Amino acid sequence: MKKYSDSLRGYAFKVLQRDGFKCVYCGLDGTASFDAWAAMSWDHLLPKGHPQRDEEAYIVCACNFCNGADNRYFGQLERRGLSLLDLSPAQLVEQRRAGVQRTRDAYHAFWSEKVAAKA
Ligand SMILES: [Zn+2]
Repeated sequence: MKKYSDSLRGYAFKVLQRDGFKCVYCGLDGTASFDAWAAMSWDHLLPKGHPQRDEEAYIVCACNFCNGADNRYFGQLERRGLSLLDLSPAQLVEQRRAGVQRTRDAYHAFWSEKVAAKA
């Protein structure tokens, strides 16, 4: 079998497959269309330097938008009153979802006003 060195077909494939090729934050389904699949990436639930960062359990399937939607999350944990201690991967996803959703909501409002086709 051919070896791929990119994320979608290579090193992230197992994680994306485990998560059903669905973004854990917004639910975008990479099995539904090529464009959706091509928008997928993997998202680390723990920051650089954390001993478990690169364990597959702590990496999830996320679309590129959600992956970058709250990229100050790790740096702002303390300010937001959050902690990573003793949280399961599912709990880490839930904790991160709030910031991702805030950005999605703000972009959605912009999209509705300025981008979406008007009937
Ligand atoms: Zn997403």
